[in-house]
Amino acid sequence: MNIHEYQAKEILNRFGVPTPRAEVASTPSEAKQIASQIGGRVVVKAQVHAGGRGKVGGVRLVDSPEEAKKVSAELIGTRLITKQTGATGVPVDKVMIAETLDIKDELYLSIVIDGDLGAPVVMASTEGGMEIEEVAEATPEKIFRIAGDPLIGLTGYHARDIAMALGVPKQSLKSTIKLVSDLYRVFIENDCSLVEINPLVITEDDQVIALDAKINLEDDALFRHPNLAKMRDHNQQDPLEQRADEADLAYVKLDGGRVGCMVNGAGLAMATMDITKSAGADPANFLDIGGSADQKRIEEAFKIIVDDEDVEIILVNLFAGIARSDVVAQGIVAAAKETKTTVPMVVAMRGTNAEEGLEILSNSGLDITGAPDLAGAAVVLQQKLLELGGSD
Ligand code: GDP
Ligand code: MN
Repeated sequence: MNIHEYQAKEILNRFGVPTPRAEVASTPSEAKQIASQIGGRVVVKAQVHAGGRGKVGGVRLVDSPEEAKKVSAELIGTRLITKQTGATGVPVDKVMIAETLDIKDELYLSIVIDGDLGAPVVMASTEGGMEIEEVAEATPEKIFRIAGDPLIGLTGYHARDIAMALGVPKQSLKSTIKLVSDLYRVFIENDCSLVEINPLVITEDDQVIALDAKINLEDDALFRHPNLAKMRDHNQQDPLEQRADEADLAYVKLDGGRVGCMVNGAGLAMATMDITKSAGADPANFLDIGGSADQKRIEEAFKIIVDDEDVEIILVNLFAGIARSDVVAQGIVAAAKETKTTVPMVVAMRGTNAEEGLEILSNSGLDITGAPDLAGAAVVLQQKLLELGGSD
């Protein structure tokens, strides 16, 4: 789960990581009021679930409370399109008003899970303020990496090595070491999948401060953090992904395809995408209904796929173990009738009650072709796509 910068900074502060003085505003006049409390120049920052704001006017330095109000009015209620968003951008509902700092140096510091190592890895670079992907590509030697031990944590000498790699001035070394250790605790104790400070700044008076903050929380651990779970901002999500989340379904939108894929299980999703591609088409999405889906969830799953405007045909690939084919079939039929969809469907079902399931589908009067397995479904899919015409 993604959270906003202002929420990430709340977490950082709780763990002792310093950030600039700031408050969040939902209206221009609130922004003005906060700016006058802070006094002097302030920075107005659009709160969206995407980085790269600076380059597109989402981070603006202003000289007065009046200007803070004006700039906030320009941002609130619009959509911000950055390198990290889709073409339609993300809505700006709030802005952060923060004190400005006199910046001497911009550094980079992040923690992510390294799947190969099975451990959190701290990444540090003197090249802050720019995109780390570009640094990794052009000058990979400028990124310093150290893995924390999952049981022991990040040792004091590791934190020191990282602070040294950041090249901070001697006067700032002690506070940087503390900041690295505190940031590591943020990562572990909140079950994060990413904590990224870009830039981490050294001020003219040698303070070390997190100027920007991005935190991703691990979805599978959110149940342990009810207070963090409340930070979810549905407005920032694609509406279909939001509906999938609410129904506890795993839905992934894929660009450029025309086949909607409904499967149960991630492995099956991969096989289904391969088959779709070998049938000469690209998946428009995939939706994983998981193991024990009841009819209501199947119905919602189906409706989400139908509401994806790119979907011209639906491929359902079910390997029923705990899930029952007849329940899935009933869900599909109910949802198809309710939505009055005309999108053709190809359905492969095996396992528990597969025959009953296929029978329910074939008796439904809908444009559904059943197949006993995925290979058979691929043949039907290919033929149906030819009938539909066009290609990817
Ligand atoms: P992002 O573009 O979405 O990653 O937003 P950031 O919060 O990282 O801001 C982008 C850039 O704006 C930073 O790298 C800084 O160079 C600049 N910036 C942000 N806040 C301040 C500030 O308080 N003072 C100064 N001088 N520059 C700032
Ligand atoms: Mn940034």
